[in-house]
Amino acid sequence: MDADGEPFLLAELTGAEDKPGTRISHILVVDDDEPLRRSLPHLLAAPGRRFDLAGSLAEAVESLPRRHYDLILLDHRLPDGSGLSVLDWLAENQRDDAVVMLSGEDGIDVAIGALRRGADDFLRKPYHLAQIQHTVDKALHKAGLERTNRRIGLRLKESERLYRYLVESSPDIVFMLDPQGRFRYVNPRVQSLLGYERRQLLGRAIAEIADADDRARLQELYCNPEQPSREALRLELKLQRNPAGPAGKADVLTFSLNTEPVLGRDARDGRRRLIGTYGVARDISDRKRAEEMIVYQAYHDQLTRLPNRLLFHDRLELALAQAQRRGCSLAVLFIDLDRFKLVNDTYGHGEGDHLLRGVASRLRQSLRKGDTLARVGGDEFLALLPDLSSPNDAEGIALKILQTLHEPFQLKHGDFRVTVSVGIAVYPKDGEVADLLIQHADIAMYQVKRSGKNGHCFFGPELNANYRQRVCLENDLRQALEHDEFRLCFQPQIDTRQRRVVGTEALLRWHHPDHGLLNPNQFVSVAEEIGLIGGISSWVLDRACAQLARWRRLGHRDVRMSVNLSPRDFEHGDIVGEVSRRLANYRLPAPALEVEITEHLMMCEGHSGAQKIAQLRDLGVGVAIDDFGTGYSALGYLQRFPISSLKIDRCFVSEMKHGGNPIVSAITGIARGFGLGIVAEGVETTDQLDQLAALGCDAMQGFYFSPPASAEVVEGLFREVPPGWFTGQRVQ
Ligand code: C2E
Ligand code: MG
Ligand code: MG
Repeated sequence: MDADGEPFLLAELTGAEDKPGTRISHILVVDDDEPLRRSLPHLLAAPGRRFDLAGSLAEAVESLPRRHYDLILLDHRLPDGSGLSVLDWLAENQRDDAVVMLSGEDGIDVAIGALRRGADDFLRKPYHLAQIQHTVDKALHKAGLERTNRRIGLRLKESERLYRYLVESSPDIVFMLDPQGRFRYVNPRVQSLLGYERRQLLGRAIAEIADADDRARLQELYCNPEQPSREALRLELKLQRNPAGPAGKADVLTFSLNTEPVLGRDARDGRRRLIGTYGVARDISDRKRAEEMIVYQAYHDQLTRLPNRLLFHDRLELALAQAQRRGCSLAVLFIDLDRFKLVNDTYGHGEGDHLLRGVASRLRQSLRKGDTLARVGGDEFLALLPDLSSPNDAEGIALKILQTLHEPFQLKHGDFRVTVSVGIAVYPKDGEVADLLIQHADIAMYQVKRSGKNGHCFFGPELNANYRQRVCLENDLRQALEHDEFRLCFQPQIDTRQRRVVGTEALLRWHHPDHGLLNPNQFVSVAEEIGLIGGISSWVLDRACAQLARWRRLGHRDVRMSVNLSPRDFEHGDIVGEVSRRLANYRLPAPALEVEITEHLMMCEGHSGAQKIAQLRDLGVGVAIDDFGTGYSALGYLQRFPISSLKIDRCFVSEMKHGGNPIVSAITGIARGFGLGIVAEGVETTDQLDQLAALGCDAMQGFYFSPPASAEVVEGLFREVPPGWFTGQRVQ
């Protein structure tokens, strides 16, 4: 469309040029004198000339509509009227055919009348041959010039239309500024992009519509006639949308601007001066937004929208430089959620994410305005507290964080209380560079974890030793399997009614080359964290099955073996395949094996762990819930999954007073209600034994009977139980 809204066709501009030599001149001879009429074409013949003849006014008027003539030789006096009527006809029909009037009249009136009515020349009859030839040549030449002139005019008009079309339909804002930086021209694109009518901008300085940040720069570059810029410029700038324009678009758009100075000769002194600036502004807002998004993503955590480690590091370095200059102090807090993995494993990642977002928002609220909070790992956050007046400030914030998490979070499955471990490192005492401060805050956090979680701790040089210990433990653990440092011991499970050992629980021990015998509590969680538990579980399963097969070969065919598995074993790998392969290898009946799992594995809907448990039960393997009652109180899973037995945790047994423990009674009731086996753990006294027996809980294990022991010792107990076990006199 062109500026007037009409379709604009480029074809209009491409009319074929007249090629030199081929141009035909059409001449109409209008004369009633037949000999003269017929002789003229011969007398005036020249290459490219074509003649039409008319003997009367009527014939002339008939010929004229058929074509445009380059020249009409027109007799004044015609039998049916005056040649002037032909001139009138041409005028009426807005024709510009050249006309030479021929007349035998003596008076000048005819000549004047003819010229006034548009004739181009006049020739009196009789004329000399040379005269008419000269007149015709002159008239044709003039007509040719006019034609060329017209054509050039048309072309100019058309090319102007083309430029106007290109400028006005440009996707960019095209404009011209005067030396004061005011709009002298702007194309209509400004309306759709910035919401201004063109006329609203004419006469206004470009700086006026620029974003505040860019105004001074534009003022200097384009609105300063004293020192006009004479260079082509390329810059990026932000322009404001018309506040009164249509709403719904961003208030500010970013443009890439190219401008060229326009120079012109000054009429006063003939010197070249700046007469304006030509510019093209391209809207690059989308690209800018995309770039900003990429940068944002590179420096932020997607889930919580908090800064990530990279940005935290930058900010910390900046804050350190400032603290150094001003001689003040700052703190880095390492905040780690306690047992967050459990939430992910139990409720799924959706709920885990929801919780993380909630925690992030509460942490943010506990900090001050200038502090930075970043998420730097799954459940790890870092806080930077610049401008610390005393280390107590940092402690105050840590306590506030612990306090703010006191309120439970609402998850789909119900309320959930989150605790965190917070490690604090203070500049300059605990380190002067970013990495060291972060590392020391991490070590302090780790100390909180070791001493029971849900608290805070300042870094101190003594913690470094603990940390190194942990790093060493990890390294040693990686080699323990290879170096064959693990052993199993077995704790018998006794049926107090049958008065015999009915099974054993395989318990893992690590014979550390330097630290001696380590219990699982000292290394299983580390193995889980660093992803080594799978290999360890396979080893335990294999050794336990091998031992059971040996005992069976020795004739103890009615004892069961219980093996502890980690929740991690149900996340990755093929635990069901492993179990069934071991059963086949050692020719064990599936019911002779029981796996012990923790409660939270059952809580997760859709979690493959629950399916794997069902598959183990399908094989015939027993599945016991270990430490029952210490985890979650939702018991729906007991109905949904085919568990075979519950193990009452040691803490409930140890709390049994003379009057019994209501939790133990409740658990035995639940087991009975669901038709599950039940084993009481940690039985240490006759009193506990009696109370459990009274509640109908016959299967027990605990130091009262035997601590975990070697296979040989346990085998002795298979053969014969010590006489004191059931007489109230425990015999070691
Ligand atoms: P658990 O499965 O609940 O095992 C019972 C723990 O209670 C054992 O500790 C056992 O020595 C201890 N115990 C037994 N009777 C008594 C008693 O009368 N009084 C007291 N105070 N303690 C008693 P242990 O062997 O140190 O194992 C601790 C935990 O480590 C186990 O708790 C189990 O969850 C885990 N664990 C043990 N072996 C393995 C294993 O092979 N793989 C995995 N993943 N975890 C294991
Ligand atoms: Mg166990
Ligand atoms: Mg237990």
